[in-house]
Amino acid sequence: MSVLKLWRDPSPEDVDPHVNGFLQALQHPTVIALTGRDTSRHRVLVTLLHGNEPSGLEAVHQFLLSGEQPAVNVSVVLGSVHAAAAEPLFYHRMLPGDRDLNRCFEAPYSDGQAVLAKAILDYVRSCEPEAVIDLHNTSGSSPAFGVGIYENEEVMALTGLFVDKLIVTELRLGSLMEQEFGAPVVTVEAGGSADDAADSTAREGVRQFFTLKTLWSEHAPVTVIRKSRRLELQPHSRIDYADRPLHDRDITLRADVDSFNFRLAQPDEALGWLGEDGYSHLRIGGEPGRSDVGDFFEERDGCLFPRDTMQIFMATTRPDIAASDCLFYFVMSKQ
Ligand SMILES: [Zn+2]
Repeated sequence: MSVLKLWRDPSPEDVDPHVNGFLQALQHPTVIALTGRDTSRHRVLVTLLHGNEPSGLEAVHQFLLSGEQPAVNVSVVLGSVHAAAAEPLFYHRMLPGDRDLNRCFEAPYSDGQAVLAKAILDYVRSCEPEAVIDLHNTSGSSPAFGVGIYENEEVMALTGLFVDKLIVTELRLGSLMEQEFGAPVVTVEAGGSADDAADSTAREGVRQFFTLKTLWSEHAPVTVIRKSRRLELQPHSRIDYADRPLHDRDITLRADVDSFNFRLAQPDEALGWLGEDGYSHLRIGGEPGRSDVGDFFEERDGCLFPRDTMQIFMATTRPDIAASDCLFYFVMSKQ
């Protein structure tokens, strides 16, 4: 069997009425292919690249149960089915020991995750899509937003189907959206999986993406955010989240640090506590040429503060995700 299982035109009766049952019935990374009214065009929705991000799968599940026919051919690519279905359900971003699937979309395609990434890439390209959406949840609580590697009218229109903010990033991490599909591609972060709004954001966006005759007519206004950076943990440094400094950690971030997502963090707002090595356990990622942590943050009384007003987003409160990905992204208010 190929890496991706193909499930063509399931009827509502073929679909388990509960999303957990729907997930467990998949058993493998899966493509659900739906025949549209116009079969000359194709749109691709990729979701569940991270197993702990269920809103995209839930939106697809709802759409399948509705029995509605999409406007054009649609393929739904469900990536980390194994990680999502491992107990506890929807907890594992990837299975223990595996690499992050959304960092594997670049050669060499050597391990199992990379082989899956390559199969997804090949499949999406074979569709010759007119548009590609990669639908995620954020790791912490957050308003919804889109991420793209460039901005043009098509990218803005796709983003506007789901959200009203677009982060244009120069970061290259080996993610799906960085790849060339001959079509616009946008990553949508529907908000945290525990946020009430995330499921409805995903559901409404997916419904529009599947059923609108054209994607390129007038779209809702979208605010563009540029020049984002990442605050990353140094390899082997130890991080955790609490309401007080933890003495066996190199850095303790506030347990509610995700409450900063998409609001401005001021220089007098502490983000967490630093151990005796200060912020040497942190580094800045996300731009050509290295910046120092001290360009953007400072230590005062053992605490970590923004040096100037900054907008924070994608802050997680999971130590494992902070260590394997990043603590958060940020843009300085004054560039
Ligand atoms: Zn994700």
